[in-house]
Amino acid sequence: MTSGDEVVVALDVGGTGMKCALVRPDGQTVHAERHATEAARGPEAVIGTILDVAEGLAGKARAAGLTPVACGIAVPGVVEEARGVAVWSANVGFRDVPLRELAQARLDLPTALGHDVRAGGLAEARLGAGRDGGHVLFVAIGTGIAAAHVVDGSAAVGAHGAAGEIGHILVRPDGARCGCGRPGCLEAVASASAIGRRYTELSGAPTTAAEVADRAAAGEPLAGRVWREAVEALADGLATAQALFDVETVVIGGGLAQAGPRLLDPLRGALRERLTFHREPRLVAAALGDEAGCLGAALLALDARP
Ligand SMILES: [Zn+2]
Repeated sequence: MTSGDEVVVALDVGGTGMKCALVRPDGQTVHAERHATEAARGPEAVIGTILDVAEGLAGKARAAGLTPVACGIAVPGVVEEARGVAVWSANVGFRDVPLRELAQARLDLPTALGHDVRAGGLAEARLGAGRDGGHVLFVAIGTGIAAAHVVDGSAAVGAHGAAGEIGHILVRPDGARCGCGRPGCLEAVASASAIGRRYTELSGAPTTAAEVADRAAAGEPLAGRVWREAVEALADGLATAQALFDVETVVIGGGLAQAGPRLLDPLRGALRERLTFHREPRLVAAALGDEAGCLGAALLALDARP
């Protein structure tokens, strides 16, 4: 058996779907599949699906003459990677789930448990848009806003598994109330959901962030104002992040990154205005799209293999 036969089993578990793959040591995906999370069934059922899917993938690898050597699972919420425990998750309902141990027992393979955004950041930093820089901040802007600080190919976890929650940097003390309970968090002002909600509130017409971006680009004043407010808030958050982390590259991912230059150009300008002696990071769009979390889970698995 040569190392050319080796693959890892990788799963990225989200609130609605799971992206799953068999990945070679060089990062090449040899098989990919998606499954519904159906989180409403409760955490026990979701854990059952994760284990079934992982076992199924290992079986498919063997049937194809490949050797599964490790498993990596990325989940949302608070994740203590060192203990392999999914501590807490709002959208999947996990509470202190020893997912690494469960998967290891079921698959009989070394397993790594990671956080979805940190895994995505790891993949962007090692295989994607940040691969030229040793210090990378990956910022995922979607329903919420979260980040991963990756230094030399490893993402900081924090003492309690909650590093990178830049969505909860306070940017507008008198602003909209955040899901965490406090008013004015960055994600309550500038996440894709917040942008859609703000425009809807002012216009009375249900609107998504993507539509706000389109309308702002077309010159509609209200959309322009809402978009500008979000960009300013994001720049405030990124300026704080740059003061803390001093990175070479900021990679913007998540749904809002699909706005491309309509987001990145004004954001770059607004960030530049806010920096004094800190060096301006390179601000780029993510390269791996929604595959990043799954590829990151594969990297964690590769790092965990014997
Ligand atoms: Zn918050």
